[in-house]
Amino acid sequence: MAELYELSMLLGDLEEQLVTCMRCGMCQAVCPLYAETGRETDVARGKIVLLEHLSRELLKEPEAVKQRLENCLLCGSCAAACPSGVKVLDLFLKARAIINGYLGLPPAKKAVFRQIMTRPALFNRLISIASRFQGVFTRPAGEILGASCARFESALLQDRHFMPLARIPWHAKMPETDEPAGPDKTKVAFYPGCLVDKVFPDVAKSSFKALRHHGVKIYMPANQACCGIPALSSGDRKAFMQMVRCNLELFADKDFQYLLTPCATCTATIKEIWPMMGQYFPPEEQEKITALAAKTMDITQFIADKYVLQRKYDDSVDKGGVKVTYHDPCHLKKSLNVHVQPRTLIRVNPAYTFVEMDEADRCCGMGGSFGLQHYDLSKKVGNRKRQNIYQSGAEVVSTACPACMLQLIDLLSQSHAGIRVKHAVQIYAQGLG
Ligand code: SF4
Ligand code: SF4
Repeated sequence: MAELYELSMLLGDLEEQLVTCMRCGMCQAVCPLYAETGRETDVARGKIVLLEHLSRELLKEPEAVKQRLENCLLCGSCAAACPSGVKVLDLFLKARAIINGYLGLPPAKKAVFRQIMTRPALFNRLISIASRFQGVFTRPAGEILGASCARFESALLQDRHFMPLARIPWHAKMPETDEPAGPDKTKVAFYPGCLVDKVFPDVAKSSFKALRHHGVKIYMPANQACCGIPALSSGDRKAFMQMVRCNLELFADKDFQYLLTPCATCTATIKEIWPMMGQYFPPEEQEKITALAAKTMDITQFIADKYVLQRKYDDSVDKGGVKVTYHDPCHLKKSLNVHVQPRTLIRVNPAYTFVEMDEADRCCGMGGSFGLQHYDLSKKVGNRKRQNIYQSGAEVVSTACPACMLQLIDLLSQSHAGIRVKHAVQIYAQGLG
């Protein structure tokens, strides 16, 4: 009964927002998925039409509705281009919660989200066991990028080149820390996010190196939970809320000025999606969410704005360094308008020469679980990114999101292009000596 009430609440909430769409079709021109499929149902406008009849469609063809809603990278390109300010991601995430609330989640997904990912200590232990045995199922796929591929035929892995789990994740390399604020009182909380912690711990190491170089004191508690976006984008609002609560316990009442993350997706989730879902939490938790969201910042933004002088760069001068280009993560540029700062961190390293690629802010095609479920389409979207990287002549492609790093590594490792992938904070830290 309570679930039905919650569903009707969500439906009512959606209806209020749907009326703002004026059907102009501007979203069609920028949708990376539509560019590949040419299907109106893949565009924001097409999905909004579907949502207007959601309660009727839910009764008629629930599975078809679910599929159409899940055919989306959640890249936010449509929202960024929409002249009416339709909160497209807000609509889609809430609609996914409705449909999955109605249909129920597949049992395996439900178990992973609710029994494992909401218990960070258990999640860490299981990932650590998996990292020891991953070699049974995977094999190296090339030295330059360090990717692996499936040893046996696998429907999930297909012909992907993916980064193996780190032998030692960041939380094991760096135990929890709570340094007293220094003379200039700058103290931050560090939230690596699951992918940096478990797959790219070197990004966290570089973040610490850069923060310590600038005398910033760090609070990093053990047993941090996922930011919740994998659960919410799969429609599991309950698991999402539990993950948010785990993190509120660790961060909400602590004394620090900023919560920094090197993951664009985590930053956008904590800053925008948590407050967007705030209405489902009791008022005291809503307050904590709002306060934490206001303190949350991408690490490249924090370092560049606070410690690196913004100056004009003349990229037409070839400084003879390693050629590097930059891919804008959708969740950083389109959601948070952060795009100058990561480029600044790259440009201040004299060992690199920055070259801009065409369509740097076009989605790479990863889209979180979209890439898992629709790998062929994800690769098609990614091919355009790969071509733009090739044409830039870069030897390194940098970005500021570990999920984009995974996709870029897959695209570039499969073509044996010899192009490396680095986070902007890695390039910056490398320049600090
Ligand atoms: S751009 Fe915005 S207003 Fe125009 S059709 Fe798309 S969602 Fe609707
Ligand atoms: S979020 Fe991205 S993929 Fe989804 S409809 Fe909007 S532009 Fe298309």
